[in-house]
Formats: sequence, structure tokens, C-alpha cells
Amino acid sequence: MSVQAAANAQIDQLKEAGLFRCNQTINQRRGHQVQLNGHAVTLFCSNDYLGLSQHPAVIHALKSGADKWGAGAGAAHLISGHARPHAELEEQFADFMGYESALLFSTGYMANIGMIAATCGRHDTVLQDRLNHASLLDGCKLADAKLKRYQHSDTSDLADKARETEPKLIASDGVFSMDGNIAPLTELAATAKKHHSLLLIDDAHGFGTLGPQGRGSVAAAGLGADDVPLQLFTLGKAAGGFGAVIVGSKALTELCTNRARSYIYTTALPPALACASLASLKLIREDTTLRPKLQKNIEQFKQGAQQRGLALMASDTAIQPIVVAGNEQVLKASRALLESGFLVSAIRSPTVSKGAERLRITLSADHQTTDIEQLLDALSRILRNTQ
Ligand code: PMP
Repeated sequence: MSVQAAANAQIDQLKEAGLFRCNQTINQRRGHQVQLNGHAVTLFCSNDYLGLSQHPAVIHALKSGADKWGAGAGAAHLISGHARPHAELEEQFADFMGYESALLFSTGYMANIGMIAATCGRHDTVLQDRLNHASLLDGCKLADAKLKRYQHSDTSDLADKARETEPKLIASDGVFSMDGNIAPLTELAATAKKHHSLLLIDDAHGFGTLGPQGRGSVAAAGLGADDVPLQLFTLGKAAGGFGAVIVGSKALTELCTNRARSYIYTTALPPALACASLASLKLIREDTTLRPKLQKNIEQFKQGAQQRGLALMASDTAIQPIVVAGNEQVLKASRALLESGFLVSAIRSPTVSKGAERLRITLSADHQTTDIEQLLDALSRILRNTQ
């Protein structure tokens, strides 16, 4: 069979199994209101939890950063791509999070694969939560390390597997991206200490939304650099921009600078984007209205769902999934929501386990009370016969 014919056969298989994916083009955006196929719809599946991608101060910083630095970095960090805004962003993150050092990567995906491959090799075991983000799992493949997974958030399985394997690294999402729940961080830190393992927390979804001044899930749990030696924060979610920062000791960030291939062999993030993230970080630290607005919206959604008899998962964060079992059923629900004016992504198996397919609803400080009320009404109408 030719490569083309094999590709077509695979596409047909995906379509038959209800697993085919394709992009939907947003033609216009204003806050969480977008134009899709000529229709106005409200976004309920973006990770722009604070609405900062649309914030005037962040847009202004991006524009003036481009005026000063141009459109791109022009080279990798270690060649000539590392500019003053990159360095400033790293300094501010290390200071804000209370770590010795920080290192900026072009994406969170690249940071995770780079960090794991820089710190682990083929003789090492990496212990991970079953529901960790794909980039943490893929990092083990790149490192050629032995991957062991413990049951989701199960601290006794974690303790057993740590005793069996004496892992070099334990890694977990801080807030699980498809479930919205928070990892058992205190127990993770204690287990890692007991076994002299490095602990890495990927706080892509906690940064900006949780903890004092938005420092994230680790700070919210009262933990810091002594308990969690390595953390990842992405800049494309609550910060509303693009990129990722890791924080750790100087030795760990220098090791990544020298050994993380996804850092070394790629063009540095455009400096203008680092300028935008500096503006976002300032808002995350100093604006006292954003997180309370998000919190109010989360509470409105949870209360409204309860009043309407909609079953939610055990999440208090901005990620509020609703299980609609079956790939076809969840797709149908997502399409019906779209017809009612709401864009909500359908998460199918095998991304989540069979029977736990879900609508991944995300809330933002940018949503209005009426947006949430109307979404809840549509959900209760559409899911009446499916839940
Ligand atoms: N970690 C987690 C938990 C994520 O949800 C994501 C993004 N989906 C990433 C890492 C990757 O971040 P980025 O989008 O910056 O590559």
C-alpha cells in the first residue's frame, strides 16, 4: 500500500471510530465572544482563565515590544536569541515564585520533554500520575527512561511504587487538565523526599488562578522550593500569551540550558511575547479583581449545575468537566451546544478513559453572569436524556 493510501485508510478508520479531529477556524474574537462559521458563539473551552490574552495592557506590551525588538528572536537562546525581556521574565519568575533560578522555554510541551531528558537517562525510573499531561509522558520516551505510572492521585499506590522503583524523578500535573482536580501535593513532596527523588510539578493550569497572588497550586498548598524543587508554568493559559517558564535551583536550570535539546535546538520565543508575559505577570501579581471574578464565575457555574441536576466532577478550579459517556454521545452534545451558541470541546477516549468521555467546560474571569446562565440552560436542555 502506498503511503498516501495508508494515510487515507487511517483517516477513514478514525472517522469510523468517531475519533477524527480537525480545526475550527475562529474568524473574529472579542473577549470570549467569537465568530465561527458566520455564527456568534461564546467560548467555554479556552484556557485564557483570566481573559489576559485580550487585556489592553498585555496587548500594548506586545505591540511596543514588537516596535522595539521586531517580530522574532532570530536565533536560539544560546546563539543570539536571548534578549533583555527574556532575561527579565526569568528574573521576575524566580523572584515571584521564591526559587533560585528560572528558565524560559518556547512552549510547555518543550519544557517538559526537555527537563525530563536533561535530568533522566535510560537507567532511571520516572514515576508519574496516570493522568499526567502527554508532554510529561513523552519526556520519558525521549529520555529513554523507565516510566512507571501510579493510579490517579492515589497516594498509597504512589508510596508502593516509589518503594519498589526508587525513582529518580516523580512528576505530576498540579491541576489535572482534563479533570480540574488538584494533585495530593503534600504527599507527593513527602514521598519524593523520603526516596531522594526529584519532584516536578507541572502547574500549567494552577499558575495565575490559584494560591497567593496566583503563584499556583504548590504555593496554595503551603509548599515551596524545598518541597518541590522543579516547577513548570505555562504562559499560554492564565497568562494569555505563549511560552513556558521552569523554576528550580541554579544547577537544575543550568543543566537544562546545557542538556535540554528542546531548549538548545530551537529559536527563542519572540522577545515581544516575553514583553507581553511581563505585563501579564504584573497583572497576575497585582490586580486584585481578576481571581475573585474567576472564583465568582466558578461558583455560579457549580451552583447553577447543582440546581439543574447536572452532575459535575470533583473540581473547584476553572476546569469543570461534565461526563457524557461514549464518543458519539459526547460529540453530539458538543455539536448541540454549538448550535445553541457555545463552543465546548468534546474529550473522547482514548484521551480520557472509556466511559468517562466528557465536555471539558472552562470558566474565565471574562465570562459574564448571563453567559454562564445561558450555558447552564443549554446544558440542562441538551443533557436531559444523556446523563
Ligand atoms: N502541561 C499541561 C498540564 C498542559 O495542559 C499543557 C497544555 N495543554 C502543557 C503542559 C503544554 O503547554 P504548551 O501549550 O505551552 O505547550
